[in-house]
Amino acid sequence: MFTPVGMTTLGRPGRGCYIGTSGSMSTSIGEGARDVDYCLIADGLVIFRNKIYVMDNHELNKVISREFHAKPYSSHPGYQKTLTVVKKFYYWPNMKRDVAEFVARCSDCQRVKAECKHLGGLLQPITIPEWKWEVISMYSITRLLKTVRQHDSVMVVVDRLKKIARFIPMRSTFSASDVA
Ligand SMILES: [Zn+2]
Repeated sequence: MFTPVGMTTLGRPGRGCYIGTSGSMSTSIGEGARDVDYCLIADGLVIFRNKIYVMDNHELNKVISREFHAKPYSSHPGYQKTLTVVKKFYYWPNMKRDVAEFVARCSDCQRVKAECKHLGGLLQPITIPEWKWEVISMYSITRLLKTVRQHDSVMVVVDRLKKIARFIPMRSTFSASDVA
C-alpha cells in the first residue's frame, strides 16, 4: 500500500490538530470557507476538510497528479478516476482543471490508448440545387401586433440557392389549406 505525498505526517485527519483562528487564512483558502474547515498540524501542513491543502503551485500539482495517474501502480486511469483518487487526499483550487490538463497531456496515454469514438468518415455535402425556388425553407414569426388587415404573423420563405427571402403577412387563424 503506497502513501501519497504528505500523508505520512497526516496521521488521522481531524484529530490532534488545532483549529486555526486567522480569518485571513480562511479567505485565502476559498470563498465561503469557515475557520472550522481547516486546521494546522505539527508539520505545518494545512488540512482543509480532512484533506491536505496544496497551495496553488503548478509544479506541485503536477507531481501529485503524476503520483495518482502515471506511476506503475496507478496504471493511467482516465480523468474521472484520477480526479476521484486525488480528491480523496488533497484539495487545491482549480483541481479539476489541473488534473484534466495533466491526463490530457499524458504522453503514455496518447501513444497507447485507443480512441473509443466512431470515426467521423468522409464529408457528406448537401447537393446544390440547379434552379431558384427548387429547394426552400419556411418558418413563421407569430404573435405580432395585428395590422389593419388583421395580420398577426409573417411567413418567411427562403430560397436555398439564391438566399432570396419572401415575407408574407398571415393570420394565426389560417389553416394549412389557407397557407397553401
Ligand atoms: Zn496516462
